[in-house]
Amino acid sequence: MRPMHEVKDGRVEVIGPDLDDIPEGSQMPLAIVVEVAGREMQEEFEPILERQIHDYINYINGAMHIGQRDIVWIRISKKAKEKGLRLKHLGVAIHAKFHEVFGSIVDKVQVRIYTDEDKVKEILEEARKVWKARDERLSGMTDEDVDVFYSCTLCQSFAPSHVCIVTPERTGLCGAFSWLDCRASHRINPEGPNQPVKKGRIIDPRLGQWEGCNEFVKKASRGAIEKVSIYSLMVDPMTTCGCCECIAVVLPICNGVMTVNREYKGDTPCGMKFTTLAGTIGGGRQTPGFLGHSKFNITQKKFLAAEGGIKRLVWMPKMLKEEIWERLKERAKEIGIPDLPEMIADETIGTTEEEILPFLQEKGHPALSMESLI
Ligand code: SF4
Repeated sequence: MRPMHEVKDGRVEVIGPDLDDIPEGSQMPLAIVVEVAGREMQEEFEPILERQIHDYINYINGAMHIGQRDIVWIRISKKAKEKGLRLKHLGVAIHAKFHEVFGSIVDKVQVRIYTDEDKVKEILEEARKVWKARDERLSGMTDEDVDVFYSCTLCQSFAPSHVCIVTPERTGLCGAFSWLDCRASHRINPEGPNQPVKKGRIIDPRLGQWEGCNEFVKKASRGAIEKVSIYSLMVDPMTTCGCCECIAVVLPICNGVMTVNREYKGDTPCGMKFTTLAGTIGGGRQTPGFLGHSKFNITQKKFLAAEGGIKRLVWMPKMLKEEIWERLKERAKEIGIPDLPEMIADETIGTTEEEILPFLQEKGHPALSMESLI
């Protein structure tokens, strides 16, 4: 969000090489900076506008946008390039859609598209600070504090039966929509993808099942999903779409759960890489034992609560552990196991259950003495 005089409506600039400057089949860094000004615009609306970019770029014939925040990737088809699609058209589409959908809050929109690597890195640092501050706004809020959760069905364009139920203690599995964001989104666009979901009668507090959520999910998935547990990956877990930041999977030999983030390309102890997992369980399926979730959700109090919470976590890639280290340590202290992060194996210990089990035994990982998962 910028002051009115800093935004020239309709300005779209590409700073750095365009598609003509790189060989076919190659990759380039990319940062899309959308600046908006509007009399009714508020800072709390920024995440909603930002997340919609995903949808709008996917409307472009020959462009595919996956992910959010700092894990976005965009593919441009050869055919689209031949027909004249260039990077500036991403900005043109965003400008047009922001006016069309958010005309009541946005008066001016300008877009800068950067492909110069140093500049992209600089913008990334700034953006990460903003995302961190957004995530922290939720701290202290609990699911018990509210009567209403929010739905998100934005990803139904890819995964027709997928419904995220977003609660204060469970952010959307893409990591880009918190309960506060969904509430703000509903205020801007009451008919949009974020609808209030009255919790209604509680069916099972351990699993996190409410009558209102089940009814909503059944309707919004057009009957494909009957029940959803907000706190479990074993019983009626939430559906997973292709946008999730991480996927958690049961590891039966270790009596625990591993999780892997999208950026990690290596092998994992469940025998599947992230891409295979996403291809298998994404698409709006409900798969007991597998669960898409956000990075932030790992350290939210209700993460895997039905299975015993974060104490079940036995493996995650080193890069993910390092990224969330501070919050992980804090959460470990809260549950009275301050060394838990050091007990969680990563790929330097092993990438099969057999390889990591001796490490977990040596460290005295709590999952080994917990109730059996299966
Ligand atoms: Fe919405 Fe969930 Fe998709 Fe995120 S992953 S955009 S919260 S439906």
